[in-house]
Amino acid sequence: MATASSRYWNEPTQTASRQVVDDLHLERIRHLVGWAYEHSALHRRIYDEASVKPSDLRTWDDFFYKLPFTDKPDYMKDQAVQPSGFGGTALERDRWQQYFHTTGTTGRFLNEVFTQYETHKAGSQYCYGLWDLGVRPGDSMYFCFDFGAWIGLWSYYWGARNLGLTIESGGGLSAAERVRQIVELRPTIVTGTPTYLLHLAEVARREGVDLRSAGVRVLAGGGEAGLSVPVTRNRLMAEWGAEQVYDAYGIGEALFVGQSCAEWGGGVHVIEDVCHSYAVGLESGEPVAGPDEVGEHVVTSYTHFAQPFIKYRTHDLVRIDAHPDHGCGWSWKHLPGVVLGRSDFMVTIRGVNVYPTAIENLLGDVSDLSNHYELHISCVDGMDRMLVRVEACGPHVDRADAARRLRSHLRANLGVNIETDVVGVDALVRYELKTKRIFDHRADAPPSPTLGRT
Ligand SMILES: [Zn+2]
Repeated sequence: MATASSRYWNEPTQTASRQVVDDLHLERIRHLVGWAYEHSALHRRIYDEASVKPSDLRTWDDFFYKLPFTDKPDYMKDQAVQPSGFGGTALERDRWQQYFHTTGTTGRFLNEVFTQYETHKAGSQYCYGLWDLGVRPGDSMYFCFDFGAWIGLWSYYWGARNLGLTIESGGGLSAAERVRQIVELRPTIVTGTPTYLLHLAEVARREGVDLRSAGVRVLAGGGEAGLSVPVTRNRLMAEWGAEQVYDAYGIGEALFVGQSCAEWGGGVHVIEDVCHSYAVGLESGEPVAGPDEVGEHVVTSYTHFAQPFIKYRTHDLVRIDAHPDHGCGWSWKHLPGVVLGRSDFMVTIRGVNVYPTAIENLLGDVSDLSNHYELHISCVDGMDRMLVRVEACGPHVDRADAARRLRSHLRANLGVNIETDVVGVDALVRYELKTKRIFDHRADAPPSPTLGRT
């Protein structure tokens, strides 16, 4: 394993050639499909219906073109009829250690279950990125949250334990109390969603506390887009005086499949030790033509034998970088911009696809605006319309003028008219966990998701 002076947690795997990594993936996928077929009634049914046996899976073409996808509705339907209340399980109940569920953005939870080995393995996913950022045993990690059934926080906790960090919990405290505790404890790392970390900076200012005096070196989190959005990263580092921002991209079912490295390259690396990942065309379901093409992210998790997720459609839109090594030496796939949108939540305004992350980036170019914003979608006379509502960054901002400048900046960059509304400081709701950004008011709207991040 890693020596303290090495930047790599596991150099042979993090820097292995594409051929070596892909060969290993195919071997692991074949093993996993065999396991699922033998032990999970759901997977056996799905593969039988497609007339595919595990022994048919020999090549990548077999995987890409013969093996059926799995999707959230498969598991939801199965959990509805299983006495246990869990879908797609492949291990007996006496092996289950911990229960979670996906965040309730679609109104119904997908129940997830993990064994002790799997929660340990899930924690190991964090070691690659955090080690590269120079985090070492003896450093400390502060948690801004109360722990619930959302796996994202727990997996950070397992990661901290794996790395030998001192764990500091701010559970059950108010934002002001957390600010004071952080200054007192001086943790190396503070974890939170980007919106909440910015909120803490606001609260600190109001309380007359200099957050920069806490000496926090790394801000870490996930759950929303901001940690890989340049303007939000820069604002976070400035507000906290932090040196690094660490992003983790998660899929509840397959855990945190992506982590940023120390030479931040605009996104996260796929942790190829724990999953296989590729992108497919939305219509074709076939691998995208080129490595830089946007497609739906399809993931196979190696951490989840109790409840296998194989060739699983995440509905996240990603672009897999053709050149993952941007000075870090990692050979693992890289997702610039992380999640660019949701395939099941495409907002098309007069024929133009608009991604929320693109809007968040553009907000940062316009002076006098904060990064607290909401997107409201409605349908008027059969035409979809989008309104961006954003808070001014101070009480003396000319809000009408800022709204005009934002409208014209969005128009120039997205090629479509988007309405804008600049509201006063603190006018929008703050969330401790995933921030709700998208409000879909159309009559036949699907449930509004957060931005597809666990
Ligand atoms: Zn890198």
